[in-house]
Amino acid sequence: MQTLRDVLEQTQKDGVAIGHFNIADLVLLKAVFASAQELKVPVLVGASEGEREFIGVRQIAALVRSLREDFNFPIFLNADHTHSLAKAVEAARSGFDAIVFDASALPFEQNVRQTKEAVEALKSINPAILVEGEIGDIGTGSEIHEEAPDLSNGLTTPEEAKQYVESTGIDILAPAVGNMHGMLKSMVQGETKKRLDIERIAHIKRMARVPLTLHGGSGTDDEDLRQAIAAGINIVHINTELRVAWRRGLEEGLLKQPHEVVPYKILPFVVNSVGQIARSRLRLFNNE
Ligand SMILES: [Zn+2]
Repeated sequence: MQTLRDVLEQTQKDGVAIGHFNIADLVLLKAVFASAQELKVPVLVGASEGEREFIGVRQIAALVRSLREDFNFPIFLNADHTHSLAKAVEAARSGFDAIVFDASALPFEQNVRQTKEAVEALKSINPAILVEGEIGDIGTGSEIHEEAPDLSNGLTTPEEAKQYVESTGIDILAPAVGNMHGMLKSMVQGETKKRLDIERIAHIKRMARVPLTLHGGSGTDDEDLRQAIAAGINIVHINTELRVAWRRGLEEGLLKQPHEVVPYKILPFVVNSVGQIARSRLRLFNNE
């Protein structure tokens, strides 16, 4: 069975990216897994601290492990945006494949110190675990935002990326390159798109020499995503687009069957709606 590290190395050789989809319930997991199975591509599911709290840390780990083993399929689990060492340790002990240790709100030196400490602690629990660190500002909240935050001062510089990777020992870097968490209303309506700084990604890749993750991929211009992957992005996070699809699917299921109370007759609408997004994103990330 391939490990997440093997899959990341393969994406780099093939010029593709692994899709990372956040899940908060079994319906999202079913939709994401079915999409990856259909397209026969590896997939990474993520659960933030809030999402983990809702499903249960050990429970989500058991679900993903059982899919991987029962179907002999490369599905992996990431502890997304983990702000404390205690929560990171809990995820590592529960069998997560990767952890995003996010101290990016702190000044650079403190971010370096805390991330280095987390890398050491997590590798002592599981030497094979992949730790991702983040520098720069990509906003917070995979939700619908009224106004665009000004993130222009928080872009990651290539020099800072190199120094951060070398002094922390992280396996994967999440830079700020024009990406942003959440979506604006105009993006949900398809009127505007996020644009990425492709030159910056390529320069960061040359300097940092590690796999790169693009957070906040929802609502990004398709061509920018293709170019970002060609420039060195190995993992793309999609959360808000799935959340929007989850809600639309649920509304459709309820509206079309106003008297239905059987969950497994309502929820397939959600699986279908979320699956459409997951499949189209996976196709794009895998150059299909
Ligand atoms: Zn993120």
